[in-house]
Amino acid sequence: MGSLLNTKRLSRIFISLCEIDSPARSEQKLAQHILSFFQQTKSVEFYEDDSASVTGSDTGNIIIRFPGNNPHRDPIFFNCHLDVISPCIGVKVGWDGKDTFFSNGETVLGADDKAGIAILLEVLLTTLENNLQYAPVELLFTTCEEIGLLGAKAFSPSSLRGYYGYALDSTGVDNVITGAPAANYIIAEIQGKASHAGLHPNNGINAIQLASKAITKLPLGQLDDQSTANIGIISGGTATNIIPDFVQIKGEIRSHSLTRLHRYLDQFKSVFFDTVTSWQDPHYLLDSRPTMSFQSPEQYPLMSLPENSEVIQLAKTAGITLSRPLHFGRAGGGSDANFLNHKGIPTAILGIGMDHVHSTSEQIRLSDMSRTAELVLSILTS
Ligand SMILES: [Zn+2]
Repeated sequence: MGSLLNTKRLSRIFISLCEIDSPARSEQKLAQHILSFFQQTKSVEFYEDDSASVTGSDTGNIIIRFPGNNPHRDPIFFNCHLDVISPCIGVKVGWDGKDTFFSNGETVLGADDKAGIAILLEVLLTTLENNLQYAPVELLFTTCEEIGLLGAKAFSPSSLRGYYGYALDSTGVDNVITGAPAANYIIAEIQGKASHAGLHPNNGINAIQLASKAITKLPLGQLDDQSTANIGIISGGTATNIIPDFVQIKGEIRSHSLTRLHRYLDQFKSVFFDTVTSWQDPHYLLDSRPTMSFQSPEQYPLMSLPENSEVIQLAKTAGITLSRPLHFGRAGGGSDANFLNHKGIPTAILGIGMDHVHSTSEQIRLSDMSRTAELVLSILTS
């Protein structure tokens, strides 16, 4: 089956996608380019949802619907995000003459996630040209993934006919991601009391010192085999001679276990609360006490696909068809698939081979893209 794919065209499509600017909230131009591949194909339907008003993008999430011609297959879908992380304006794609694409070092390459998009376009073009038997399928292109999964978050599952699907948005090849952690932000704020540090040193309550005491009591880093925590931002204080009356601490906790995630969130809250409430005025001078607030809004929900789910079983079958061992594992971070799964749309993530993503040394091998295209074609047509 792999021989039907046109590697040269895949390469051309990939370069054309990378060289169209598509920072988050400005994905429309790229979306138009993608639609143009199927504008002449009568059986294809296009749909744009109304998420733009929520995400602030110049386009909604886009769905391209192909009817399929295999009545025995469930409708499925594939997903990629349209936006690229900064710096991504004016990408010039480089080629090493053998197998590898890279950027000129001024920008990212944008293989994340345009390699996925190129693979999907090549697979669908090949399927239609060769009249292959294929499942009813939708391509779902989301906006604003890199700035907080906003497109997927605003996506309504009723827009999709596919029962389950695959996001092409991970590193590695022959890699199937079946789970990803849930994550919550931590935002702790401590209110102390300002005073001149030299003239009235005993009249202040140092919010930064209180925060420091609390932070030293927090478990950070790898908390257990399923959970991690980090404090990433501290902001507070106005001058070296002013006792700071306010500090804000921001961080996050993520876990593959919701029970543990909530236990750690409670623990973090208690540490801040206990530190602030156990404060004692050493000089018995003040009539005020420090106060605190603690918030832990959701960053993204848990993704955990059961081994026996259809989406995993179909990937396994495709791997067997290609005589190719697939690696099934969990991711350490969230992506669109977290929200799609949370909305009741089972979505596994496929590795597409991209490397050094989110950096100006991002690169990808054409042979890895071809390999992934073979897997996608097998999922679609087996
Ligand atoms: Zn991505």
